[in-house]
Amino acid sequence: TEAKNVDLNASLKEVVSLIEHTFSLSHVTILTNFDSSLPPIKGDGEKLKQVWLNLLNNALDAIGENGYIFIRTKLCAHRRRIVVHFLDTGSGIPQENLDKIFDPFFTTKEVGKGTGLGLSVTFGIIRDHGGRIFAYSPPPVEYLPKEDKADDKEWATIFIIELPLKEEKL
Ligand code: ADP
Ligand code: MG
Repeated sequence: TEAKNVDLNASLKEVVSLIEHTFSLSHVTILTNFDSSLPPIKGDGEKLKQVWLNLLNNALDAIGENGYIFIRTKLCAHRRRIVVHFLDTGSGIPQENLDKIFDPFFTTKEVGKGTGLGLSVTFGIIRDHGGRIFAYSPPPVEYLPKEDKADDKEWATIFIIELPLKEEKL
């Protein structure tokens, strides 16, 4: 597939508006802070939307009912990259699982509820964009939201995606 200009904020907003109603039925509220200075990146918009959807569905599964998801985008100009953060107030990820979650078929969900493929597909998509993805549970303090709508929540997990502004050829 051909790389096109992708507006990450617009792509995130599109996915959020698709799922927001369904998530609200489980009393899961999505909070956002999108950096309006983000330049477009070269990439596959459909695949990146699949990434956002995978991360949001995992957050919903981890929350079950009653909780929050916080999504932040930020331009890191001096490092020539964009970061996207997904935080949730779900169950958290046990330390011993953190290095397995990106493995194909790793799942802690009941048979029939999870394939364990979402994060391995996600990892591949981000890698194909020259970026990386990793998770912390709980999120280090420097990543906690400072916005007053979000600063008092019990954040359990953060997924961090870094995408280069210009693909560097090896
Ligand atoms: P699946 O959702 O089918 O289980 P994934 O590859 O999407 O497969 O995720 C693998 C596992 O990682 C999940 O089963 C779950 O244990 C863990 N996980 C992923 N995201 C989260 C999250 N936001 N909070 C807690 N656990 C998570
Ligand atoms: Mg999943």
